[in-house]
Formats: sequence, C-alpha cells, structure tokens
Amino acid sequence: MSDCIFCKIAAGEVASSKVYEDDTKFAFMDIAPVRPGHVLLIPKKHYERLTDLQDEAAADLARVLPRLARATVAAARADGFNIFQTNGRCSGQSVAHVHFHIIPRHNDDGYSFHWRPGQYAADEMEAWRKKITGALHDKSTADGRR
Ligand code: 5GP
Ligand code: ZN
Repeated sequence: MSDCIFCKIAAGEVASSKVYEDDTKFAFMDIAPVRPGHVLLIPKKHYERLTDLQDEAAADLARVLPRLARATVAAARADGFNIFQTNGRCSGQSVAHVHFHIIPRHNDDGYSFHWRPGQYAADEMEAWRKKITGALHDKSTADGRR
C-alpha cells in the first residue's frame, strides 16, 4: 500500500529504529511508547487486520513474538509484558497495517488498560457460544483473505 506508513517502514523508505527483520516480518521501536521499550511487530506484506491473514501468515508472524517478548523483558528488566493488538478504529487501531504491540511492564508501573469486566444475563453466554461456534464452522471465517 503506497500510503501506508508501516509498509514504508518495512521497506526501509521511512526511518525506524529496527529491532528485528527477516524475509516476511519487521519489528521496530514504537515512536510514542506506552512504556519505555515498547516494540511493534508487523508483517512486511500489507494486511489491515489480523483476520486478513491466512493461517500460515499468522503463524509466521506469531512465531517470533515470544522471542521478541523475551528480549524486551530482558532489556527492560521487566516483571511482565503485554501483547496488544488493535483491529479497526473502534478498537483503537490508528495505523491500518496489522501490528502487535509488545509492552514491557513492571510491578506498580502505574499503567492500566482500564479493563472493566462485565457479566452475562442467564443463558446469554450460551447464546453467544452458539453464535460463535456456528460462525467458526462457516466457510467465510475459515481462513483469511488472500
Ligand atoms: P495502534 O494505535 O494502531 O494500535 O498502534 C499504532 C502504533 O504505531 C502507535 O503506538 C504509534 O505510536 C505507532 N506509530 C505510528 N506512527 C509511527 C511511526 O511513524 N513510527 C513508529 N516507530 N511508530 C509509529
Ligand atoms: Zn501497510
């Protein structure tokens, strides 16, 4: 995609602080870190959302996540980390090229994702389970777009 900033970063057309690169993926420092050491992992090929990747492309991308997380945690002497991923504007996605955030975390670092647990009414969870398992068996959700 000619106007995608992450495509340009992956191609070396826009400067970035590279952390990792191979034939299909690229990792670099997030320019506006949630916490110091915040890394982004992207596929070199342009996909907007995680759901656009076929299984093999998703597996290839995920294969390097634990290694990048181990390196980020070691460098930051972190107590833990978040892997975070946005899809669509409603989810907070600001760059429309699929990416994983790798964010080192420390005990009492004061950061919060403001996760607010909800609850289901009676039978509501089962209705959702049925909808989702039905969709899982639908051919249109079986694999990503090419
Ligand atoms: P999103 O909000 O889409 O989940 O995450 C996009 C991330 O990309 C943000 O954390 C933002 O700071 C980062 N980002 C946006 N533009 C650039 C850029 O040009 N260079 C780098 N290194 N990071 C960027
Ligand atoms: Zn792109």
